[in-house]
Amino acid sequence: MPDIFFGKVSSILNIYTIQYKGLKVGSHSFEFEINDKFFKEYPEGEIERGNLVANVQLLKHSTMLEFFIDITGEVEVVCDRCLEPFNLPIEFSGRLIVKIGNDEVSDNDELWVVSENEFEVNIAQYLYESICLSLPISRYHGIEGSNENDCNPQMLNRIVTVGSIEPKTNGTTDPRWDILKNLKKKN
Ligand SMILES: [Zn+2]
Repeated sequence: MPDIFFGKVSSILNIYTIQYKGLKVGSHSFEFEINDKFFKEYPEGEIERGNLVANVQLLKHSTMLEFFIDITGEVEVVCDRCLEPFNLPIEFSGRLIVKIGNDEVSDNDELWVVSENEFEVNIAQYLYESICLSLPISRYHGIEGSNENDCNPQMLNRIVTVGSIEPKTNGTTDPRWDILKNLKKKN
């Protein structure tokens, strides 16, 4: 379950803050761009580049906030086959409910409870985790929305060839052997 966040965030992530307190009861729409700068804020993650848009519709009720969050765009990932980066399309739709001024503890994944004293919510962490959850386990050229022909044939060739190469006995290893070892580690 992606997290939402009440409290201080970095200046880059601050633009993903929605100040709900001053809003009228009813529907409000927000649009957020998600780009390389956003992903830099999560250096521990595997995504470094991306270009997405999050459309957020907030239905404000008197004691509850209802968020409908759609994320579309693409992120750069590495192809499992040829090891070259490519853009993978991402689509995510989520719904999130925040109850205001309620003491009860939430045991529902999509329900958050927040104190009456709060007035804003930052959804950057929610957006980031939602994008990560949308990534398929295998990513390769030819996966839906990408082109199989973009797989680098030279690189494919190299990986196939390397299977027959043994490490040299003089202590240094063929760099291609290292590629293979790294591949094995990943699997
Ligand atoms: Zn590829």
